[in-house]
Amino acid sequence: MKLKKILLPDNEIPQAWFNIQAVMPNKPQPIRNPATGEPMKSEDLYPIFCEECARQELDTEHEWIPIPEPVREQYAAWRCTPLVRAYDLEKALDTPAHIYFKNESTSPSGSHKLNSALAQVYYAKQEGVTNVTTETGAGQWGGALSYAAKKFGIEAAVYMVKSSFNQKPYRRSIMQTFGAAITPSPSMSTRAGKDLLTVNPNDQGSLGCAISEAIELAMTTPNCKYTLGSVLNHVCLHQTVIGLEAKKQMELAGEYPDLVIACFGGGSNFCGTAFPFMRDKIKEGTKTRFIAAEPASCPKLTKGKFEYDFADEVGMTPLLPMYTLGHTFKPAAIHAGGLRYHGAGVILSQLMKDGLMEGRDYDQLDTFNAGVLFARSEGIIPAPESCHAIACVIEEALKCRESGEKKTILFNLSGHGFVDMSAYDQYFSGEMTNYRPSDEDLKRFIASADALNK
Ligand SMILES: *Cc1c(COP(=O)(O)O)cnc(C)c1O
Repeated sequence: MKLKKILLPDNEIPQAWFNIQAVMPNKPQPIRNPATGEPMKSEDLYPIFCEECARQELDTEHEWIPIPEPVREQYAAWRCTPLVRAYDLEKALDTPAHIYFKNESTSPSGSHKLNSALAQVYYAKQEGVTNVTTETGAGQWGGALSYAAKKFGIEAAVYMVKSSFNQKPYRRSIMQTFGAAITPSPSMSTRAGKDLLTVNPNDQGSLGCAISEAIELAMTTPNCKYTLGSVLNHVCLHQTVIGLEAKKQMELAGEYPDLVIACFGGGSNFCGTAFPFMRDKIKEGTKTRFIAAEPASCPKLTKGKFEYDFADEVGMTPLLPMYTLGHTFKPAAIHAGGLRYHGAGVILSQLMKDGLMEGRDYDQLDTFNAGVLFARSEGIIPAPESCHAIACVIEEALKCRESGEKKTILFNLSGHGFVDMSAYDQYFSGEMTNYRPSDEDLKRFIASADALNK
């Protein structure tokens, strides 16, 4: 029988995360204080984030950062995750390519997000923090944070975009199951929320507003810190467990990837999967190509501009040097909620600028075509976000069929789609559409970032 699922002996979990900042050919440019324009230090982030995360954020020195033992113990609930050879997808595509996927959908919350939620909550607990806050749109990050907070015995307060709060009741129930307090945003509990509701009592909210509310709560409440599920360097760092495991599993399979592919929202699952392999490219000159698959409706890598911009809509965060569509960008309501973000993160943007990786965008319908083919071949219904990675894998595998090349492709299955079946319903009913912002719209939104770089 062919070996389909590859695990590590004794389900071995990595001892340390890989910090790519230590080996990058060009270090990321500094993040800046928007008021003074001065580069920011870790200490400047302490009022918002717990201290260890703030230090990791700007650590360009230590290549390996030990994973605390209590976090490894929590990881052991589902890690190592399986590496799977997608034989049936290869067959369906009649491709000579070898396709492997790392299955992060096997986590208790159904996606990779728990890898960082557990780390962030652990450090908060260590520093005497009693409450963590965050925002959530579609609810995946909120669910992961709620679970992590319950495990380490602290309270989680989640601001959920009001439209999602009403439209995605099951993600809300998941967070409630793990004991989190959920507030529809905008709310009357913060200045930011009140300001919006006074103008429009029916405001249905946005991720940008929910971020502002969560940060405001963290900054005005003792022993309360803010957490974020993507974009930031320390989040990408925690996600490197994915690629570190995958590297060992590929070794067991006797292969090394020619292509590493993952979907791209703020970058955490892409970075986590790619960086341990990119280390080989930087240090040893391996030829692997790295492709981030993003939605055509939110194309920051293929159509964005590299410049300083805010990480949130309102402008409460430091200025980050990154590929951005402008912090005022309003993405269409595609089903891949986790990919509707205007910016690309600091590390990844520098790597992109240096030509170490590439971005590609996909239309919504093409991603669901790909996701359904994958489900029918491999038996796993992918999250709408993960369908973007699969669309890219299929495109590359079909190129191999044309050329006869026997490439080895590795991709990350970031999550399952069980809580997103309404999206599949819409796809099957034929009512799903594609969205592409016009060039004029893109120019107008990017101008909101241009204005900060004068
Ligand atoms: C949040 C999420 C993403 C996008 O976030 P990244 O930080 O870019 O990885 C992708 N897939 C799933 C399943 C998610 O929940």
